[in-house]
Amino acid sequence: MQAIDVIKRRLKEERIPDVPETYATKKKRPAEVAFMDVNLCFPCGKCPDFCPTQCIQHLPPGTLEGRGEQPVQVRYQECIGCYICLEICALLTDYDAIRMYDVNLVEQVLGVDIGDRPPAEPETPEPWEEYWSEGGGYRHMGNGSRIREKINADERAILQGERSST
Ligand code: SF4
Ligand code: SF4
Repeated sequence: MQAIDVIKRRLKEERIPDVPETYATKKKRPAEVAFMDVNLCFPCGKCPDFCPTQCIQHLPPGTLEGRGEQPVQVRYQECIGCYICLEICALLTDYDAIRMYDVNLVEQVLGVDIGDRPPAEPETPEPWEEYWSEGGGYRHMGNGSRIREKINADERAILQGERSST
């Protein structure tokens, strides 16, 4: 068993395909979507590999001054709100840089509609640090990992084996 299997089992996310071998597409409007706190994202590059819709990407070069490799951010219109990225960042890295936000709030703040299908063309993400970061303008849902307290010793050993601080 691998860390992603532990996370999926504890999240009860069996509907999520076997990332990174196969991927999914949004088929209904999610209740929540993920955003990275770009000030906390290292970026270690782990979460993009495990996102089932592959909607996490690095910000375009030069977006944030003083950052060599740019942090990652979500193309939220493609996000299915599965929590996988949040748990990967919380449990397999030292950064805990991802939080979920109510989709109604996101629509209101960004002045967009979030529907039940992804857009025809992927939209380039922005930092949105004034909204979705520590000290940003809006409250996230929950406070990080939903499964940390449920993980048993065997599962913890698996996570520890794949954990990285780089
Ligand atoms: S797992 Fe966390 S630190 Fe790593 S790229 Fe994703 S958001 Fe950034
Ligand atoms: S919650 Fe994270 S892993 Fe799941 S679809 Fe959204 S960005 Fe991808």
